[in-house]
Amino acid sequence: MIRVSVVGASGRMGQELFHVISLSPGLKPSVGFVSKKKQSTSFEYTAHEFNKESAAKTDVVIDFSSLEALPDVVSFCSKHRLPLVCGTTGLTSTHLQHLEKAGKKIPVLWAPNMSVGVAVLRRALSALSAVSEFDFQIEEFHHSKKKDNPSGTALQIQETLEKAIKRKCPQPIGVRGGGIIGTHKVYAMSDEEVLLFEHQAIHRRVFAKGAVRAALWLRKQKAGFYGIDDLLLK
Ligand code: NAD
Repeated sequence: MIRVSVVGASGRMGQELFHVISLSPGLKPSVGFVSKKKQSTSFEYTAHEFNKESAAKTDVVIDFSSLEALPDVVSFCSKHRLPLVCGTTGLTSTHLQHLEKAGKKIPVLWAPNMSVGVAVLRRALSALSAVSEFDFQIEEFHHSKKKDNPSGTALQIQETLEKAIKRKCPQPIGVRGGGIIGTHKVYAMSDEEVLLFEHQAIHRRVFAKGAVRAALWLRKQKAGFYGIDDLLLK
C-alpha cells in the first residue's frame, strides 16, 4: 500500500483528498497534518508535528494548506526524502524558489490547478497567437472563503496567454461569492467578434483526483521541480 499523507487534512481540499485516497486501490490515507487550531477526524493518524515518526508512516506528501505551512512542509519532505505534491496557491516568487530548491533533492510538483480541464484550456490558448491584436481579459469566480485574489490558476492562465500573444494583458478580475468552486474565463475581443474560453470546476474532487494522480506519477520521478503539464499533457 502506498501511504499518502496530507497537509491541510481538515480543510475543504483535505477532506476531498481523504475520500479519493480511500477509494483508490493500492493507496491508503496516512498522516493528516492539520493546523494547531483544528483537529482532523477523517485521517487515521493526526499529527501536528513534521517529525521522524510522521515521515516513517509516509510514502508521498500532498499539501493543500497555507503559505504559513509551506516552509515546514518543504523542509520535512527534503529532510526525509519524501516526494511532495503541492497545490497551495498565493505563492510569491520566494515560495516558488524554495520549492525549486527542494526539487534539487526530492521530486516536487507544484500546480495552482490540478484539473486536466485547465491544463487543456491553457494549451488551447496558444491558438490565440493568430489574434494577438485583440483585447484580452481573464475573469475568475470563487467561493467567498478563498484567500488569494486573483487565483493562482488565473495568474498561470495569464502567464500562458502572454506567452501566446507575446505581450502583457490586463490583471485578471477576481470575483468572490457564495460557494463557487472555481470558474475561469478568457475573453478575446475585437470590434467584430468575441471569443470566450471557459473552464468550470463543478466538484472539488477534480482537484483531489488530479493531485492523487500527480502523487502516483511523482513517486516514479527523480528529483526535480515539476508542473502539471509534465504529467497531464505529455
Ligand atoms: P481550507 O482553508 O479549507 O483548508 C486549509 C487547511 O490547511 C485547513 O484545514 C488548515 O487547518 C490547514 N493548515 C493551515 N495552516 C497549516 C499548518 N501550518 N500546518 C498544517 N495545516 C495547516 O482551504 P482549501 O479550500 O482546502 O484550500 C487549501 C489551499 O489549496 C489553498 O491555497 C487553495 O487556494 C488551494 N487550492 C488549490 C487547488 C489546486 O488545484 N491546486 C484547488 C483548490 C484549492
